[in-house]
Amino acid sequence: MADCLFCRIVKKQIPATIVQETANTLAFRDVNPRAPVHVLVIPKEHIESLMHWETKHASLLVELHQAIQSVARTEGIDKKGFRVAVNIGAEAGQTVPHVHYHVLGGRSLAWPPG
Ligand code: AMP
Repeated sequence: MADCLFCRIVKKQIPATIVQETANTLAFRDVNPRAPVHVLVIPKEHIESLMHWETKHASLLVELHQAIQSVARTEGIDKKGFRVAVNIGAEAGQTVPHVHYHVLGGRSLAWPPG
């Protein structure tokens, strides 16, 4: 699916509030934030869900985690604490079929989530 919603954001065909961009990753604010900080971090490559990560993506996976670290630092939540959430499939509520990591912070986060 070369033209999914997040691929279109990657290609700048749809506007988004981008907070960070690297050669292989993009971080942008969630349009419907669930916390004072709610950033989505994605690989630019179209990977449908966490279930589709493969060995060939190993370095990209590290880059993505480093992008999450960087977003947490620039958003000022790295020391206070934050949550990374990934929804996988329909029952978990994944609505966009392009793997994305929700970075949530800036308030106390209940556990377990509802
Ligand atoms: P999920 O439910 O895990 O698939 O998360 C998809 C997220 O994408 C939701 O939190 C939406 O609010 C968010 N979202 C949908 N469309 C956009 C958009 N155009 N720009 C930014 N975030 C979006």
